[in-house]
Amino acid sequence: MKNNLEQKNFYSFDKNYSSNIFFKQPDKYREIEKFSNLSENIITTGSNYSYSPAGFGEGSLSLLLKKFNRILDFNSKKKEITVESGINLSDFLNFLLKYDLWIPQIPGYPFITLGGAVAANSHGKSCGVHGTIRNSVKSILLYHKKNGWLELSNEKNKDIFDLTIGGLGLTGTIVNITFKLSEIKQKKFNTIREEVKSVKDCISFINDNNFDDTFIYSWNRADNDKDFGKGFIFKNILDKESQTSFKEISKNEKKSLLLPFSLWNRVSIKIANFFFIYLNNLTKKKSKEEIEKVIFPFIGNEKYFSFFGKQGFIESQLLISKNRIDEFFEEFKKLYNHHRPVITLFSIKNMSGSQKYLRFEDNKLCVTFDFINNNLSRKFLEEVDRLCIKYQILPSIIKDSRLNKNIFNKCYNEGQIFKEKLINFDKDRVYKSELSRRLDI
Ligand SMILES: Cc1cc2nc3c(=O)[nH]c(=O)nc-3n(C[C@H](O)[C@H](O)[C@H](O)COP(=O)(O)OP(=O)(O)OC[C@H]3O[C@@H](n4cnc5c(N)ncnc54)[C@H](O)[C@@H]3O)c2cc1C
Repeated sequence: MKNNLEQKNFYSFDKNYSSNIFFKQPDKYREIEKFSNLSENIITTGSNYSYSPAGFGEGSLSLLLKKFNRILDFNSKKKEITVESGINLSDFLNFLLKYDLWIPQIPGYPFITLGGAVAANSHGKSCGVHGTIRNSVKSILLYHKKNGWLELSNEKNKDIFDLTIGGLGLTGTIVNITFKLSEIKQKKFNTIREEVKSVKDCISFINDNNFDDTFIYSWNRADNDKDFGKGFIFKNILDKESQTSFKEISKNEKKSLLLPFSLWNRVSIKIANFFFIYLNNLTKKKSKEEIEKVIFPFIGNEKYFSFFGKQGFIESQLLISKNRIDEFFEEFKKLYNHHRPVITLFSIKNMSGSQKYLRFEDNKLCVTFDFINNNLSRKFLEEVDRLCIKYQILPSIIKDSRLNKNIFNKCYNEGQIFKEKLINFDKDRVYKSELSRRLDI
């Protein structure tokens, strides 16, 4: 690549991959065109908050869209907004919530860009009722190095529109997005905590409480065999009585220094879980929470990630069908007892939608596990990969940077169709990342 490009070390959020990457940061529309011509292969980068290296990769010039963060048009009557794709969730919501409007599919960290969220077809806590961000996208302005500027919507270039949402930046650079907005009159939630005694108990509770204005998710223990699955269900219900205006969502992006070693281990996670349960039991079952705390659970809790140190962590997020989840957990539990991996987070929520292409979306239960990054976890996860194939489970490729081409091909029935349509659109396959190369997309 040419030597007038800037260069820096990029890390995936889970710290499993890093590479010295050439990048450019366009400020004007014509610079997107100009910089896209500097390299054979490109990929667009948002805030680089993907756990997996989806927004960069060796051999690809990264186009950083952070300067494309303006609000271009807003019509409160029509409930529509057009923004540049580099705007982050915090700025987007701080503007919209003043008008009692938002999109309900907000991924859990305020500094994620809207472009990154659309390219990953992200979801929020309420995905059991609101599905993924796809449901709020009306149209997109895309720039493709070979195909030029394209307007995408259900009316124009429908096929490419469909490939682009959840297409992980492989169809080109999303420059502007128009969203259909939803009303949100209250900015406070009542949070209700319920205890669960097992995974089964937890799943039936989640299934029975999938209501329109309720965000429901669990926190479960996985630090020992006896208590596996015990934990809490949290229900966030819009507080209909609250009339107060909202407190602005945090604009301070924290970058923590990473320790050379992991503070999370078998003992520390037991202690942390003990205190989490103890403190929860000290507080009332019902409390009031600001919207920021509800939709961005990791705000103020960034230390959870920095405690993994330089070696990082592995997240496995799985969509599991309701009628096979009991069998899955029976086998999972046997494997867990055999391998004894260190699991630092285990959570369950509902998801709604239908699976297509690369999108992590379906009418299934969404189960998330975090592991410390070591050989034991990797061995254990290879066994979980086999369960994914056996039970037709969809593992998230944006979260788990360990997944390989074989697992992807076996679990993503539509992966091949996506690939064929993409080659049809772009025979040179210009847009590539580490993730797309690893999975051969
Ligand atoms: C703490 C934390 C919590 C999270 N919570 C959730 C959650 O609740 N739900 C959920 O679904 N996800 C969640 N995520 C994942 C996150 O939503 C996605 O990884 C999202 O894509 C990150 O956006 P980004 O701006 O950082 O994009 P990047 O990581 O930079 O890029 C992600 C993908 O989008 C593409 N892309 C980015 N911008 C553009 C653009 N303008 N045009 C074309 N392609 C583009 C990139 O090429 C890449 O493929 C979370 C991540 C973190 C770190």
